Amino acid sequence: VTDQAPCATAPIETDALIVGAGPAGLFQAFQLGLLEIKSYIVDALPYAGGQCIELYPDKPIYDIPGVPHYTGRQLVANLLKQLAPFEPSLHLGQVVTGLAKQDDGRFLVTTSKDTRFIAKCVILAAGVGAFQPKLLPVEGIEQFRDQQLFYQLGSKADFAGKHLLIVGGEDAALDWASRFASEQGPDRPKSVTLLHRRDVFQAAPEAIAQVKSLRDAGALRLMVGQVTGFVAEGSGLVAVQVTDVNGQTQSLPLDALLVLLGLSPKLGPIASWGLEMERKQLPVDTEKFSTRIDGLFAVGDVNTYPGKKKLILSAFHECALAAFGAAALIFPDKKIMLQYTTTSTRLHSLLGVDSKV
Ligand SMILES: Cc1cc2nc3c(=O)[nH]c(=O)nc-3n(C[C@H](O)[C@H](O)[C@H](O)COP(=O)(O)OP(=O)(O)OC[C@H]3O[C@@H](n4cnc5c(N)ncnc54)[C@H](O)[C@@H]3O)c2cc1C
Repeated sequence: VTDQAPCATAPIETDALIVGAGPAGLFQAFQLGLLEIKSYIVDALPYAGGQCIELYPDKPIYDIPGVPHYTGRQLVANLLKQLAPFEPSLHLGQVVTGLAKQDDGRFLVTTSKDTRFIAKCVILAAGVGAFQPKLLPVEGIEQFRDQQLFYQLGSKADFAGKHLLIVGGEDAALDWASRFASEQGPDRPKSVTLLHRRDVFQAAPEAIAQVKSLRDAGALRLMVGQVTGFVAEGSGLVAVQVTDVNGQTQSLPLDALLVLLGLSPKLGPIASWGLEMERKQLPVDTEKFSTRIDGLFAVGDVNTYPGKKKLILSAFHECALAAFGAAALIFPDKKIMLQYTTTSTRLHSLLGVDSKV
């Protein structure tokens, strides 16, 4: 599994491109692999797993067939393990922004990191949308993005010697505030302030205890309030306005702002591709899980059809049939046979397992 570097030059040509690395996207790549179709997967998140990892990594799931219980994390780890023989190419941390059908019938797919793919078929496994950071709702502040305003941590060194303000009240914000405040090496910021809109945190008790003990030791400042404005000098951000629960506003000087307010799914780009949608979902047939555009399939939470249930097991079934639909397009002259993984020596060879067992 690789998070490959963006490729701004030649597009990557592939038989199949999967949008989304949630359970549907991962199992889709496996099913395509069984039919000898190489696929690429793109996800906005920097890791695979979709909702299972982002929303409930440690909660048990009780309705995966044959598995009495699995946490979201275990399910994803095993989907990746199952997929490993097909050496999947995952392009993570990038949103699929463009999808256009070419004159030759193939799709040109573009991402926010300028990666481009030319794919014979595209399988949308986009769930409830691309998980993207919740932005600070302050008009104009986005101009400082990636210079002084960050929604994810690149390198700790970016904050070395700086007055750092971290915004958020969940685990990620508290963990990073503690890590920066405890940093003793050259990456140590000059000061660390953690700002949350309430004086109650939604985080693990240990994370809260750690932040409070660093506050008591004078290594970290805790503030209650919301960023309501900013002060710029030249092209630089020099302070933010913080308004507390009583409506009092004060200016807080800073060099860097790390906003960790969590992620929320945004259908965003998919909704803007002119595809026919029903209540934010893509109508598909139930034979191949194809949309009405030839070569464009949709599986998992993003699709809709009579009787649709947004369950992982339904997604898995959809992936198997979509793979056969894709194979018919990719290998128009080949008769695609159903083979059992238990008995097919061809599948054993693809999976790298011993046929004699
Ligand atoms: C709290 C909770 C508990 C649940 N419990 C169960 C359960 O017990 N059993 C069960 O069967 N189901 C359960 N579900 C539902 C289950 O998680 C979903 O049905 C499943 O995750 C759908 O998988 P998916 O791959 O279709 O979509 P997702 O898991 O949503 O993954 C879609 C992925 O696509 C990416 N993406 C979308 N658009 C783009 C784009 N334009 N560019 C790049 N990436 C993009 C997203 O970032 C995301 O990672 C639960 C859901 C929740 C929220």
